[in-house]
Amino acid sequence: EAHKETLGFETETRQLLHLMIHSLYSNKEIFLRELVSNASDACDKLRFEALGDDALYEGDNDLKIRVVYDKDARTITVSDNGIGMNREEVIENLGTIAKSGTRSFLESLTGDNAKDAQLIGQFGVGFYSSFIVADRVTVTTRRAGLTEEHGVRWESDGQGEYTLETIDKPDRGSSVTLHLTEGEDEFLDGWRLRNIIRKYSDHITLPILMPKEQHGEEEEKAEPEEEMVNQASALWARPKSEIKDEEYNEFYKHVAHDFEDPLAWIHNKVEGRLEYTSLLYIPGRAPFDLWDRERRRGVKLYVKRVFIMDDAEQLMPSYLRFVRGVIDSNDLPLNVSREILQHNKVIDSMRGGSVKKVLGLLESMARNEPEKYTTFWAQFGAVMKEGPGEDFANREQIAKLLRFASTNKDTEEQSVSLDEYIERMKEGQEAIYYITADSFAAAKHSPHLEIFRKKGIEVLLLHERVDEWFTSSLTEYDGKPLKSVTKGELDLGELEDEEEKKEKEKVAKDFEDVLKRVKDTLGDKVNEVRVTHRLTDSPACVVTGEDEMSANLERILKSVGQ
Ligand code: ADP
Ligand code: MG
Repeated sequence: EAHKETLGFETETRQLLHLMIHSLYSNKEIFLRELVSNASDACDKLRFEALGDDALYEGDNDLKIRVVYDKDARTITVSDNGIGMNREEVIENLGTIAKSGTRSFLESLTGDNAKDAQLIGQFGVGFYSSFIVADRVTVTTRRAGLTEEHGVRWESDGQGEYTLETIDKPDRGSSVTLHLTEGEDEFLDGWRLRNIIRKYSDHITLPILMPKEQHGEEEEKAEPEEEMVNQASALWARPKSEIKDEEYNEFYKHVAHDFEDPLAWIHNKVEGRLEYTSLLYIPGRAPFDLWDRERRRGVKLYVKRVFIMDDAEQLMPSYLRFVRGVIDSNDLPLNVSREILQHNKVIDSMRGGSVKKVLGLLESMARNEPEKYTTFWAQFGAVMKEGPGEDFANREQIAKLLRFASTNKDTEEQSVSLDEYIERMKEGQEAIYYITADSFAAAKHSPHLEIFRKKGIEVLLLHERVDEWFTSSLTEYDGKPLKSVTKGELDLGELEDEEEKKEKEKVAKDFEDVLKRVKDTLGDKVNEVRVTHRLTDSPACVVTGEDEMSANLERILKSVGQ
């Protein structure tokens, strides 16, 4: 029995739909890219699930995507024979936006269409982009493996509600029909649709079929022949020299679910003992869920062109979790599972090789395209700082890529590399000095810096949460220790002259009594009271023991309830 119900979108979904339609309108043709991309994902998922259960194919493993239009009904339909969805999946995938950070995303919108369009693209709108050109969207779908009466019809006008109905659907997979909004008839044109598909979806590995255009009344047949519109070959398997930048860009948008072009990519074929191809991208912008370790969409694993899984976390370390793309292995078995990936030599060596490639790409970007690198660092720098602690083997190489704010410029922009710092080190300076604080202003104005400023010694100004973790994991670079200016006895070594040393000893003697009195007053609250030479203007400051947690780390741990 056709059990029909009406459900409401979540408030946030409603808001997002409204915004999207208005801000993405100038680029409305991308709806087709999104629907084809979803159809392709659905076929990939089926192929993977069917590796373990051939019955899911229901005798039809010829996966394809079809695009048809109907001039009279004013509809465009994109269908696939992929995995399909059951009722719960339809509600979850098409009725809610389960993404973390949705609210903060909506709050970040400005009301300026151009700016918001960028942000919305970054958030990723996918399926909902249908409503840019359609005032009603119908999805019929049946999950592979369910019987035909378990089909579902979803329909919505994109305003506030949608209906769900159980239907009979003999053929597995999904079919999305757009009922075009008045004025969008330009899309009811085979030539136009073909052009859009070639422009955005040529790299889709499955055939995208359209009915052949018919000319003249007499030729009109009930069932026109179909033709393939795209190349349907795996982009990464083609020779680099034959791939255009636009093709790389569009492929990126598909694998990364991004709306914008990537910042850079590296395409690499490895032959020999191990054979694999990797095509890895650096996005232009951090996703909203960069800090949400639960939701990562990283590198896809393929085996001999067959999609195996999304977000194969074993393929990239956590500090490179922003990298997107594919790795296609010739050596793994097709029935490889997530468990097998845990301890697998092939995976380990593909991962090692791919990490090197990404670091190499970043290195050459830093050297040859410093502006691009600045963009990269602003988006992903804080994640990269997890690197030295996580990837011991590549520690030096990662450290080279790090950028910091420092007292050299005294601005918040992180642009100083450790090599640059070392070049500017004073005669006799042995350590790389840094300060950590909970804000840039606090770091910059810290009294601990007074003596350094006076002597013209540069200090790195660190104020991100990750910096505490980072400074505990990278304790030296290029043979020079990294030292906190707030910890322990300040020993500027060679940087002090004889006179200063004598003066120090004299002052220590003169103040013996004062120190004792202060210590007696403060009692157990402090370990020790010392005369300091690190201050030039302020009368006193609190320092931490050489081996103790810094005051800032203590603050952070307290704030997270430790
Ligand atoms: P994304 O593709 O980035 O996940 P979309 O908004 O494009 O986001 O799609 C949302 C979800 O809806 C998909 O993740 C998928 O689970 C489901 N979906 C969309 N289209 C199809 C389809 N043709 N077949 C099966 N599932 C689909
Ligand atoms: Mg999608």
